[in-house]
Formats: sequence, structure tokens, C-alpha cells
Amino acid sequence: MKFINLTRSIEIGANSYFLDFGDDGHLVLDAGLHPKIEGELATPHFQSLEDYPVDCLIISHAHHDHTGALPLFLRKYPNLKVFLSEPTYHLTLPLLHNSVEVMLKQRLALQIPEYPLYTHKEIDHGTERWQICHINKEWSLNGYPNPKHEPLTFRFYPSGHILGAVGVRIFHRGRRIFYTGDVSFKEQTLMLPADFPQDGIDVLIIESTRGAQEMEKGITRQTEIQRLIDRIENTFDRGGSVLIPIFALGKTQEIITTLFFEQQKGRLRKCPIYIGGLSRSFSEIYDRLSSRSLRRYPGFKILDTIAPIVVNGKKTHKIQPVKGELYLVTSGMMNENTISNILAQKFLPNEKNSIFFVGYCDPESPAGQLLATPRGNLVVLNSSSKPQPVLCEVDHFDLTSHAQREDILSYIQLLEPRTCILVHGDPTALEWFKQKIEEESPHINLVIPPPGQLINV
Ligand SMILES: [Zn+2]
Ligand SMILES: [Zn+2]
Repeated sequence: MKFINLTRSIEIGANSYFLDFGDDGHLVLDAGLHPKIEGELATPHFQSLEDYPVDCLIISHAHHDHTGALPLFLRKYPNLKVFLSEPTYHLTLPLLHNSVEVMLKQRLALQIPEYPLYTHKEIDHGTERWQICHINKEWSLNGYPNPKHEPLTFRFYPSGHILGAVGVRIFHRGRRIFYTGDVSFKEQTLMLPADFPQDGIDVLIIESTRGAQEMEKGITRQTEIQRLIDRIENTFDRGGSVLIPIFALGKTQEIITTLFFEQQKGRLRKCPIYIGGLSRSFSEIYDRLSSRSLRRYPGFKILDTIAPIVVNGKKTHKIQPVKGELYLVTSGMMNENTISNILAQKFLPNEKNSIFFVGYCDPESPAGQLLATPRGNLVVLNSSSKPQPVLCEVDHFDLTSHAQREDILSYIQLLEPRTCILVHGDPTALEWFKQKIEEESPHINLVIPPPGQLINV
């Protein structure tokens, strides 16, 4: 097999990988757009694919850093088929349409003439070539289930990350390749833990997002939830409100359900909970598939049961938080001009309020900047506004939907693949894995694939 990393640099960035099986087929795993880069440079490196055909694109899950460039692949390869799990199919649609809206805004605000990279119409037409592939079934590259005598087939395994997220096992003439996508080996409130192959993998392509983060002793998801509940209660006691900047897909559904269950148990008081419009769209899909998809609490409906209030994005400027409210709004890293960024500027001057982060915050993002600013010091959340003093409480809670690095390492060592390809990680994260594997499992051939270069595995 030949492998090309289609991303443009070694970092968490976006995901897209090309696998060449010669006459037996050519496939691409994931089609992400870089979350921090604008324009053409955010797309996968199509130039390194110039000499190759591509038969199909397999999507691991609906997050933008895995799907944002999907319409570009369909445009470039007119016969390409896209394979995804049922929830991923439904979640990717609103995500891509929202991406067009964001690009249209950025076209004007940031003067990016090539935006939008694709249109609403193109997304809708493209779905003719999207195909749902159910998990735990073998599929051919033509999209036929349970194929006989095919040299190249694939199968999805639940990865526990968000609804519909899968790892992909590829079977090629007796060799097995496994791509994890984003994985959580621990259960979350809604998601079951990953259910991955336990042996028989020759080549493992594995995410390494959290390779630079040490698992702190005594800190678990449960203790972090408890700490979050305590801090929210404390904020309400002193007459404040809580802002939780949060990703619309996956994190919102997990956290709102977690908070609701804590309310049911009487550990968190009942309060108005606000979410954004895009989060509502994704929650609707979680609800629609609640009995049909692999998750905990089948049948539990977020929107009907919790009844969050939907914030109208256009009226964000008019919102005046009063005491005892909970805002779970995008974006998770408080990018400029998003609801969470605008609201944060209103939360900062009131020492009764709190801003709590529950996901990864890039140090350069407004969220990262705020977390690094001591209380009382000045922070700039919007480049066209004046610096503001941080008077409210600010904290971070580790409620990740990615596997801890120790669990990733254990999985690599359990499988003992001949070759392990590390992807979706920053250089320091990759370095940690490299050191550990060289020390503890030197027989595993560890590969950190340089962008755009063909490697034989
Ligand atoms: Zn993800
Ligand atoms: Zn990812």
C-alpha cells in the first residue's frame, strides 16, 4: 500500500489521507478543512494527488476538520463516491451548509475572493453520490454490502467520539489497515466508548490529538463534571450567569445532557439554558436518530426533554444576561464575531459571572488568550474593540471527547501493528508517542507521514 498525507503540515490541523492499492483501488480517508487557516490553504493538498485516480472518499465523522472539503473532492473527481455512517450523513449536511454561510461572511469581512469554496447547491447535488454504510458490515469500494471475492473492502467500527463517528478497517488481500479517526475509549454521557478491533491489524493509522497532555492523577471525567457543577452553583449563588463557549456538534449535546441529568439528581438547580441555532440543528439529528444510532439513553430527546431556548444569532448584541442563566453557545474557542465571543464581552466586566471552557482551546484563539489572562488584567477578545479587564471568573474543565494519550498508547501496544502511522497531532504530541514507542515497543515501525510525500507501507 502507498500512503500520502494530504494535509499541509504536521499539526492537529485537518485530516485527509490517500491510500493507493494499485489496480485494486484508490481511496481517501476524510476531507477536512483546516480550522485556523482561511482560503485555499485550508484545503487538502490536491496537487500531490495529481497522478492518481480516486475511487472513493470514506468519512470517519462529521466534524469540519474531517468533512469541510468534501464538496471539493466531489467536484474534482466526477465519479467519486462518498461513504459515511448514517448519523454522519445527516450531521454533515447542516455542517457543510453552515460552512458556506461562514465563508460568505468571511469573503466580505476578510476579503477572501475565493470564498465560498463551494455553494449550497453544490452540496445538495453532491449528496447523490453520498452513500450510507452501516457499521459492522463489510462493504466494497463500489458500495455493495457483504461483497464476495473483492480484493479490497472496508468496515466501520464505532469510535465513541461523537454520534456516528467510526474507525475504518480496510481489508486488502489478507492485509488489514485500520484508521481510527477521532476516538474516545471512555464513555461520555451520550456516547458509548469505542468498540474497535482488538487484534489482527497490520497497519494502524491513529489520531494523536492529546499526545502533549498528561493525564493528571485523580482527575477523571466524573470529577471534572462535579467541579463544573460546583462552579456553576457557586456562580448562581452570587447572582451571576454562566457562559460556556462550546462546539455546536458533539460537545453541546454531551454537555447539555450532562447538566440536565445533574439537575434531575438535584445537584444543579433548574435554570434557563440557551443554545445556538446550529447546535439546535445538530441536536435535532441526535434526537431523530436517538433510537436508531449507537449511543447511551436510546430514545432520549434533547430538545423535547430539556427544552433549551434557542438564541437568535442576529440578536446576540441585544442579549443582556441576568442572574441564574446558562449559555451554551458557539464557538468553542470564542472566535471573533461568534455568539460566544460577543457574549463574553458582556460577561467579562461583571465579577458575579463566569466563563467556563469545556473543550480544547488553541492558545492563540480568543479562548486561549482569555484563559492565559489573570483576573484583573486586560484582554482583547475582538480586534476592533478596546482591551477589557477580566473581572468575571474564568476556568477550564477537561471534558474531552478524544482519547487520553495513555489510552492511545495502550491501544497501539495491544494491536502491535507492523506499522503505526501517527496523524492529527502537533509535533510535541507526536514526539511523546515516538519516544514511548521507541522505548517500549521498538519492533513497531512508527511513521510520522510528511505532508504530500508518498510512502510505502
Ligand atoms: Zn472530531
Ligand atoms: Zn478531528
